[in-house]
Amino acid sequence: MDLFAPGIDLSQGILLASRVHRKYRPVFDGLSERDRAALALYFLPHRSKKDVLEVTRPRVIKWYCPFADQRAFPSGHRYCINVYSGCQHNCRYCYATGYAASYPRCRANFRADLTKDLDALDRYEVKPAPVHIANSTDPLQPLEREYKHTLFALEAIAQRRHRFTTVTVLTKNPAMLTTDPYIRVLHRLNRLTADHPRSAWFAERGISALRVECSLAFQGAEVCELLEPGCPAVESRLRAMRFLREEGLPVVMRIDPLFPRDPLPGGKALHDFGVPDIQPMAHLERLVEFGRGIGVGHVVYSVAKITRPRASALPTVMERIKSVYEHMAQGQPLVCRGGSWRLPDGPATQLVIGPFLDVCRRSSMAAKMCKANLLSTP
Ligand code: SF4
Repeated sequence: MDLFAPGIDLSQGILLASRVHRKYRPVFDGLSERDRAALALYFLPHRSKKDVLEVTRPRVIKWYCPFADQRAFPSGHRYCINVYSGCQHNCRYCYATGYAASYPRCRANFRADLTKDLDALDRYEVKPAPVHIANSTDPLQPLEREYKHTLFALEAIAQRRHRFTTVTVLTKNPAMLTTDPYIRVLHRLNRLTADHPRSAWFAERGISALRVECSLAFQGAEVCELLEPGCPAVESRLRAMRFLREEGLPVVMRIDPLFPRDPLPGGKALHDFGVPDIQPMAHLERLVEFGRGIGVGHVVYSVAKITRPRASALPTVMERIKSVYEHMAQGQPLVCRGGSWRLPDGPATQLVIGPFLDVCRRSSMAAKMCKANLLSTP
């Protein structure tokens, strides 16, 4: 029987993979027998007596979205590292508040668990895949100043660069990345050496294997104070994005989420619902133009979801925006999925997205919906 390394049994991995839940099956079925076994050994519980297995092996470097059915959301083999639990940025529209910790904190044993997972990826020889830092917390929130767990993770990934393809860092605090030693590790992550298993693939396509995704959806200080009171100032984010581009690092700008703008259907306006003008077109135009000017790869957008936090009431501003959504939906129920309300697809959603995409087109700026952005990150 083929062994990966002494003590690792390929047949055990193949048996585990044969029991994986059908929602993950498209990922496993698309792999060679050896890679399938490696993935199973890394993600599936080895001692479970269940007939059908989920990707529940406790991991810090975890399956990107364990709840999603790959047939509907084909995120494939990719990882997510949520460095912290909860988030001090305290965005009122944060979808993670529906399931994440209600107060921000460090994860117990983060560094040891991360190292253990990196060792396991090496031991099982798991093929390289994209890693996203992070999807439920901001890795550069104020906690990072004290604990530096994100820096630790980036440096550890840089040492095992061969286990990862694109490394994505998603933050509202890019200013921290402009300082040493963050900037140094970003440069390391951005360079795939010739012995990286996918270096030729990335080089042939001229694609960077690092992405710094910076979120900046508003320009007005009052709106920022209302909707993301714990986040760094707009100016700080703009300066940091410019700096990172001048350093030659790949930046993606997330003008995300998008909110409704005036005029609303039926002759109504946002102020009729007690909602301020959150994203005037002039602000969106300036943000897109800024992104074009510094040479961001593309912009990412999605329509704001309204999520009731797990541990508190819906913030007043979001309650009011929900009323705007109900008005815009014109009798259709809001879509309630995963604990969040969304505008139904169709004219109401187009009213939010359409003018923004026009702005992007006029600026010759590529725009990707959040989901498409994720799925196209190799
Ligand atoms: S920065 Fe991101 S994770 Fe943090 S509260 Fe805002 S939306 Fe949520």
